[in-house]
Amino acid sequence: METYDDIVIGAGHNGLTAAAYLARAGRKVLVLERSGHVGGATVSARPFPGMNARLSRYSYLVSLMPRQIITDLDLDITLIRRRYSSYTPLPNDPTRGLLVDTADDAATAASFRAATGSDHDFAAWQNFYGAMATIAEGVFPTMLRPLMSADEMASVAATDLDAMDLWEQLTSTPIGTIIDSRFTDDVVRGIVATDGLIGTFADLYDPSLLQNICLLYHLIGGGTGDWDVPVGGMGAVSGALAAAAVAAGAEIRTGVEVTAIDAEDGRVGWPGGAAAAEFIHAACAPAVLDNLLDAPTVGGPPPQGAQLKINVLLRRLPKLRDHTVAPGVAFSGTFHIHEGFDALGRSYQEAATGSIPSTPPCEIYCHTLSDPSILGPSLTGMHTLTLFGLHMPPELFTSSGAKDQAVQATLAALDSVLGEPIADVIATDINGDPCIEAKTALELQDAVGLPGGNIFHRPLQWPWAPTADVGTWGVETKHPRLLIAGAGARRGGGVSGIPGHNAAAAVLGA
Ligand SMILES: Cc1cc2nc3c(=O)[nH]c(=O)nc-3n(C[C@H](O)[C@H](O)[C@H](O)COP(=O)(O)OP(=O)(O)OC[C@H]3O[C@@H](n4cnc5c(N)ncnc54)[C@H](O)[C@@H]3O)c2cc1C
Repeated sequence: METYDDIVIGAGHNGLTAAAYLARAGRKVLVLERSGHVGGATVSARPFPGMNARLSRYSYLVSLMPRQIITDLDLDITLIRRRYSSYTPLPNDPTRGLLVDTADDAATAASFRAATGSDHDFAAWQNFYGAMATIAEGVFPTMLRPLMSADEMASVAATDLDAMDLWEQLTSTPIGTIIDSRFTDDVVRGIVATDGLIGTFADLYDPSLLQNICLLYHLIGGGTGDWDVPVGGMGAVSGALAAAAVAAGAEIRTGVEVTAIDAEDGRVGWPGGAAAAEFIHAACAPAVLDNLLDAPTVGGPPPQGAQLKINVLLRRLPKLRDHTVAPGVAFSGTFHIHEGFDALGRSYQEAATGSIPSTPPCEIYCHTLSDPSILGPSLTGMHTLTLFGLHMPPELFTSSGAKDQAVQATLAALDSVLGEPIADVIATDINGDPCIEAKTALELQDAVGLPGGNIFHRPLQWPWAPTADVGTWGVETKHPRLLIAGAGARRGGGVSGIPGHNAAAAVLGA
């Protein structure tokens, strides 16, 4: 049997990160990937026949990847900061909208005043995100270190009075209640709330605080909470990681689905082959690992995704009903639709009781406004839209026709704020079919191996440890030779490389 120092199961960006660190430390590393390509949910693809448009197919923005990983591994990754963080057409009057311009506080304040009728929520917004920035500065640098206790984390996170106040609320009170206590306008309340719901199917008042954890991860990336556009798309990110791993000597085999693990002996098997290693790094989802071991290793609630992902290629950007903002501005940040606070709550209730939300909440962004390099020369001037629909759990998609209903309802939601039907500007491929690709959570389970379609592999966890685990890396399992190197690790989820780094660090003793 072939022997290695480390076997990594899954060549998602985290598996590749672990492999790159381990191989650079001189270890003999084998990466096994079930699909025919590397990257997992961090990939680019040309989904439309005959159209040279390389879309970030699943994940699309980078926030949580520490600069240290890019530097340590000499990664050729360029990230573009977006000036406009969001645009939200007003649900009751989409001829007007709220534009958040990170480069112009006065313009943002004026937009809040026009949209909400007062200065209250802009002041509350500045206080909330100011305190969150302080928290981010304290929390994010801990992500590549052994786990702290809750008290230690509080001491680095809450370093001034506003941050102390917010930290106390965030770690004890559902974000719905926090928003109730701080903001008054439904649109503003909804924009704040969405960060708690991306990839997390929860009520905003859920006592589990799952939505609070999700919100925290969405606002701490890079110590600023900015979400950046990777030049060349997500394939450039996983490609750079794969290149770093291979350059350091790691062997990557695609089309190899691991079907058995012996965690005691460090053996890994697949149809027609087997290998052994000192350490096994499971960079697949924990539920996949549990199946391979035939026993629960990680525990916790079953993973459940809740998103509908739609990618579109446009001949040009659509006109808006709001003539005061250019489409190229509105679509360059996150474009929110039906994401008012009350609408989010209604949609959650509809989905939780088995119905596709009648006015699906979703958010959209246009990659090509920041980075046209993903389009071939023949498509110059065209644009991609990537749409992430919330509150669409897999249970809604078991009947035939449900996906079509959800897609149509979501496109109708988009149309409700446009000055022309989106269908009129969608490009057609060489077969004459519209360039539109949609994936439900169920389809993501099959396509990417995300159990329940959960984009984070399993529910996110607070970035500190229960007492017994302080000082560990959050990647350990009950088997000393078996580590979680994927998004299912504590401090996992999102395109970050953090679990991959931390699994390698657990081996290397960094
Ligand atoms: C639609 C969508 C949008 C998202 N948007 C964003 C975003 O904009 N920004 C962001 O930060 N995050 C986003 N995410 C989340 C992010 O993409 C994931 O959390 C992250 O990519 C997980 O990376 P990973 O390497 O841990 O696992 P994955 O990318 O899931 O990779 C795991 C790999 O393991 C392989 N595998 C599974 N089982 C086996 C087996 N038995 N044998 C061999 N190989 C196996 C899989 O094929 C896969 O390649 C999004 C995810 C989705 C699905």
